[in-house]
Amino acid sequence: MTREEVLSAFNSIRVWTNGDRRAVHEPLLVLLALSRVNDATSQTMDWNDAEPLLKNLLEEFGPDGSATTRHYPFWHLQTDGLWQLDGPPEILKRPAGATPTLTELRQNHVRGGFTMPIYKALKADPELVGIAAQRIVDAHFPESIRGDVLDAVGLAQTESMGTPKDPQRRRDPAFRAKVLLAYQYRCAVCGHDLRLGQQSIGLEAAHIKWFQAKGPDDVSNGIAMCSLHHKVFDLGAFKILPETYQMVFSQHLNGSEAASHRMLAYHGAGLILPQAREYLPHPINLDWHARQVFKSPERGG
Ligand SMILES: [Zn+2]
Repeated sequence: MTREEVLSAFNSIRVWTNGDRRAVHEPLLVLLALSRVNDATSQTMDWNDAEPLLKNLLEEFGPDGSATTRHYPFWHLQTDGLWQLDGPPEILKRPAGATPTLTELRQNHVRGGFTMPIYKALKADPELVGIAAQRIVDAHFPESIRGDVLDAVGLAQTESMGTPKDPQRRRDPAFRAKVLLAYQYRCAVCGHDLRLGQQSIGLEAAHIKWFQAKGPDDVSNGIAMCSLHHKVFDLGAFKILPETYQMVFSQHLNGSEAASHRMLAYHGAGLILPQAREYLPHPINLDWHARQVFKSPERGG
């Protein structure tokens, strides 16, 4: 298979969740499988080896509760033509909708991996592994956490390749400037507004509903944040209540006393609001973030 054939096979990863729910299971499993190609001695991996890794990835980067269905992509990816399974025939011959249980996959040591043509093409071309992985994180995760996702599977960032699934959809180059102006060039969480001359330092325009989830480039879908608060917002460490614009932090956030205190000082505090009502974060976008990104449960008062 040529590079282009392999990459187009990856582009076909099926989005199998409904509506605007984040579909991260298949991308994370594919990343995990890509990460082991170079050192692999076998085309497939035992579910028992993949499971703890995939569970951690879903807990860290997936929507709340997504780790409970961690076995779905291992089974469903085969219908996309880039994945194959090995195991007892009585399990493999089941219809696509009859996903085996976790116990069945474990006890039968069901193995899964890329189809042989894809595996061989990747094995022969280590650079292709990096390109495919980068395309997948570009398509599914905001820039602020792509490096973390790749780090978590042991892959390095390569130059961004755009979002091949949706080449029509362009980012609005003015989004950042509009959002920073709306928030008067300061972080809406902590007020950070450091500048070097006229240039803001470490200030970013966060998407509330991710661009990768078809979140619009409207100011009402953006909030100015310093790079630290942007990252923890994208990782789901806090959410913003649509009625009061109060910040609510996750029980999962922890660290040394000084570090966590600095962050948790904003728990229950109000966001620093933009300078006009029309720029206020839209409740629909805040609701999407609370459901698809925030790591519940929330902390008590
Ligand atoms: Zn900040």
